[in-house]
Amino acid sequence: MGIKKVWEIEHSCGHVAERDLSERAPDKRAGFAKWLAGTDCFDCYKKKNDGDFEKKRRAEQQEALSEAAVYEKRSGLEELSGSDKQIVWARQIRVQVLGSLYEEVEAGKQDESWFEETVLKPARLIATSRWWIDNKEFEVEDWPELLASGAESAEANENLVS
Ligand SMILES: [Zn+2]
Repeated sequence: MGIKKVWEIEHSCGHVAERDLSERAPDKRAGFAKWLAGTDCFDCYKKKNDGDFEKKRRAEQQEALSEAAVYEKRSGLEELSGSDKQIVWARQIRVQVLGSLYEEVEAGKQDESWFEETVLKPARLIATSRWWIDNKEFEVEDWPELLASGAESAEANENLVS
């Protein structure tokens, strides 16, 4: 009847799964089945790794947000409106954008008063998460113009109007 092809594997997580080992040479199947038994089943493996990935992602986001909070406070930036998810995202975009614009000052191309007038002043007026998210693809050189028009648009600061 030959060497069996489908093996019942009792995984280390306790789940039992049938595995088709027909792709392996007959004399390799027992060893491979034994190795499989020392591992978690596919679902548990996936769950565990997704969990780690999610935890890491959340920790990174927390770190980015606490850096953003320091920056926001120092620069007098308003809280943003939007869903929790939008706010988290928009705050990171805002810090990134303003940081890249500040590089112009650091590179000596602009000065502090340019940054205050052209960047921070309008940025303080733009309090809608959606606005930051919608414009995130633009290049650094486009931002002074975007900020100026955002500061005047009702949509970009709807929560300050009321
Ligand atoms: Zn399992």
